[in-house]
Order: sequence, then structure tokens, then C-alpha cells
Amino acid sequence: MDIRAQLSMSFNLDKCIGCHTCSISCKNIWTTRQGAEYMWWNNVETKPGAGFPLTWEDQERYRGGWEVNNGNLRLKLIKGNKLRTLASIFFQPNLPTIDDYYEPFTYDYQNLFNAPAGDDQPVARPKSLITGEFMEKIALGPNWDDDFGGSPLYGSNDPNLKGLSDSQKEMLTKFHKLFYFYVPRICNHCLNPACVASCPSGALYKRGEDGIVLIDQDTCRAWRFCVSACPYKKPFYNWATGKSEKCIFCYPRTETGQPNACAHACVGRIRTVGALLYDAERIEEIAKLPDDKLVDGMRDIILDPSDPNVIEAARKAGIEDNWIAAAQDSPAYNLFKKWRISMPHHPEFRTLPMNFYVPPLSPILHQAKADRGGLFDPETDDFFNEIDKMRIPVKFLANLMSGGNESLIIESLKKQMAVRIYWRQKRVGDVGEGAVKSALSSSGLTAQDAEDIYRLNSLATHKERFIIPETHREAKSTMDPRLMYEKRGTIGFGTKKKETIGRQW
Ligand code: SF4
Ligand code: SF4
Repeated sequence: MDIRAQLSMSFNLDKCIGCHTCSISCKNIWTTRQGAEYMWWNNVETKPGAGFPLTWEDQERYRGGWEVNNGNLRLKLIKGNKLRTLASIFFQPNLPTIDDYYEPFTYDYQNLFNAPAGDDQPVARPKSLITGEFMEKIALGPNWDDDFGGSPLYGSNDPNLKGLSDSQKEMLTKFHKLFYFYVPRICNHCLNPACVASCPSGALYKRGEDGIVLIDQDTCRAWRFCVSACPYKKPFYNWATGKSEKCIFCYPRTETGQPNACAHACVGRIRTVGALLYDAERIEEIAKLPDDKLVDGMRDIILDPSDPNVIEAARKAGIEDNWIAAAQDSPAYNLFKKWRISMPHHPEFRTLPMNFYVPPLSPILHQAKADRGGLFDPETDDFFNEIDKMRIPVKFLANLMSGGNESLIIESLKKQMAVRIYWRQKRVGDVGEGAVKSALSSSGLTAQDAEDIYRLNSLATHKERFIIPETHREAKSTMDPRLMYEKRGTIGFGTKKKETIGRQW
């Protein structure tokens, strides 16, 4: 066993209101610099939708992530052999262009104050942040799907609609019926990061002590392989510095026990942050599993932090007691492994992403109510078994977060439904005891689980949502050298000594 520690963020999609406060708080701290105007280390996408950059989930186009080839795990980006791929270092056809992101712009606000008196109201025209010229037409933006209210124009380009019947697609995209929800995204700080493996300069590395993936700004030579190889398109190229940059999981905040800026600012309180312990020896084995087995494989690789053998092995690996204690209280562990409610984003990319999403539930009630003329009848309605009639088809969610495994989505939704039935009985009292018992037992939850899930998702305080152990490097003299970093890069985004997980070159 090779135990490592990982910080992980979980998102409850039922609660995201798409306000983009998270994106703005991230932008204000990290990407208000020249060359970073178009970067959104945190962005929020409307689903169904084409996303940012456009259709980033389509790996036929972008060739991000990993594939299993003759029993070997290899980067999709590598065509033929590594030498041939390296020979293409000066031209990568799979890179997104600025047209796939958007031409960043501001508005000529000064004109509102300085325009000479005239018959018309002064306007603030859009101005390109690349050329400095006025723009005639804004054709794209970072949350364009949202601006168009999930319209069929953009929604129908969503790669996750693959395999859905026409009537299921209609449920999501037809104008008078359309339904959409939001998916906030940051770098997943993956266990098997394709960005790290792809960098010819060895500039990317995964920190052993907390699993955060960083780009050493001193070493980066702007080959942009990380941009191509990351299937989530979370590294960005900064044209002003000539370096690539990405989400740093707010490590200057997390090292002092503070939550990431996006999570702290979240209006819907949809985010929790916690620690996980995992067995690094099994990364390759799990990443090679068939698509529909990947989520269970990832649950397997996460270790039980209360198991005495795990605790002993973690201490031997130099993991501090405050990390072990944090892992025992971790919201990420409870949601992903204990309750089996949350799921990774696109596990079939095989990077083993370490952020997790609770799939949205509320549309089921809406659909079920519509079937009954909008009325809830606790005596006869059986919402618990109506999951397959939800407004968001199970298959769509399975394409998004379980490698196509619909049973895992149904399991998660049934558990969330059981919690609602439990609380309806407790608070409103119009659901029979028998219905509660049967909902809990058939979804594999106890009454205590229903209390705890409700607490975490609805009422949890700041301290309960963010259980982030402080990292004191100065106290790590006995630590396994692989778990340490040596020196910060010049602008604080990187270090000199590399963690070597996943390096391919
Ligand atoms: S999402 Fe994963 S592959 Fe992409 S930049 Fe982050 S760690 Fe790398
Ligand atoms: S701040 Fe929270 S609720 Fe608002 S868009 Fe971001 S994740 Fe969703």
C-alpha cells in the first residue's frame, strides 16, 4: 500500500443556482492579469450545453485523457509512438483556439460619463481585450449557454445527449419544455493527471502532501501539451507570460486551513471540501477498468481513514495526524464512498478526477407531479419508483458522471429521494412510517444517514462544510521525501521538485 493524501471538492448540483459568484471570486484573485483575460479557472456551465471551451467534452475532437490500448494505458494525444508525437511539438491540431473560448472583451464604460451632450443616450460599446479595437459583434462568451437559457441552438451540441431517444432530448431542449441545470467546474486535481503525463518539460507535478496539481512557471516552456491532454480543458495558455496556468486549488488558502475562494464565496452553499486517503499503487489498475466500472474502482481506491491498518500505514508514509483526523470527518469521503451519492465528472476520461458531484434530483418531482395534474398525493404517489420518469433523463446524467452506468445514478437519486421522504414524514407528517422504512431500506440508508445527509446538504455550517487540515511543511522533517516539495516557483505557482506520478516522457 502506498498511501497518499488528497484534497477534494464536492458539488451538490441540486443546489447550484448558476449565479457565477464562484467564477468571479476566482477571477478576482487569480486571473485579472494580462494574458489571463479569457481564463476561467472556475467556470459554471449550463447543461445541456456546449460548455467552455466549446464542446470540450468531445474527445474525438480534442483527444484529451487516456485510452486503454492493447492492455496499456496511454494518452489519447499520442499518435503512433511518443517520438512521433514529440516531433509534432510545434503544431498541435487538437488545441482549442481562441474562437473555441471567446475573444475577451470589456466595455467602454468611460463613454457613459465622457460622451458629449447629444440627442441619444451614450452607450458602452464592447472593446476587445486582445486588439483594443471596438467589436461589432460579440459571438461567444464564457457562459454563453446560460446567456441563451439552455436554448436548443447550444444545448443540442452537448456531447452527453449521445444515446438519448428523441423524446428524451426533447425533454431537455424543446423550447416550451426545456429543462437545464448548472455544472460548476474547476481543475479536478486528478490522481492520474493527463496534463502531468503529457508535459515534455516536466513542468507539471502533483503535490504528494495534498494532491494539488501545479505548473512550475520556471520550467514551463509553453509547449501546451497540458492544454491538449487535459480532457477537462483546465490548463490555459497565457499569451503575455508565454506560460501555461491552471487552477491551483487556492493552495495558499488551503495550507492555512481556509476554504478555496470559489467554495467560500458559493451563494448556494453547494460546495464542501475535505481530505481523502488513497492507495497510489492501484492508480494504473483502476484507470484501466471498463467505463462503467470506473466509479466503483475509484471508490475502491479511496481508503477507510478509520481503519487501524490504514491509519498505521498513513503514519508510516508521513501523513500527519491532523490529515488523518480530517479524512475521518471528510464530507468528500462520506458523499462519495460512505453514502455513494456523489460521482466524478466523466470518469471515462480515466484521469481519476478528485472532485465529485451529487446529481440533481428535483426534476423527478416536477415530472411526477405533472403526471398527476400537479398534485401530490402521499397515499398513492410512489415517487420513489418514478426515477426513470425524471425531467433530466438518467442516461444523460450517466453520460455526464458515471461512465454510462445508469444503475449508479439511480442508486444516488433513490438515496436522495429516501432522505426527502424521511424528512417529509418528520416535518409534514403526510407520509406513512411504512413508506419511510421501505424507502430507507431499499436505498441502503439508515435513519442516521438520512439525518446526516440532510445536515450536510442543507444546514451545515462553514466548519462542517470545509474540513481542511493545515499543512505545516516546517514540521515535516520525518516525512517521506516524495510527499515534500522543495522550493516555490518565481510567482508562487510552482515548485522545483516534481512528484513523478504519471510522468510519461
Ligand atoms: S483536470 Fe486533471 S488532467 Fe486536467 S489540468 Fe486538472 S489535474 Fe490535469
Ligand atoms: S457560487 Fe455556488 S451556487 Fe453560484 S454558480 Fe457557483 S457553485 Fe453555483
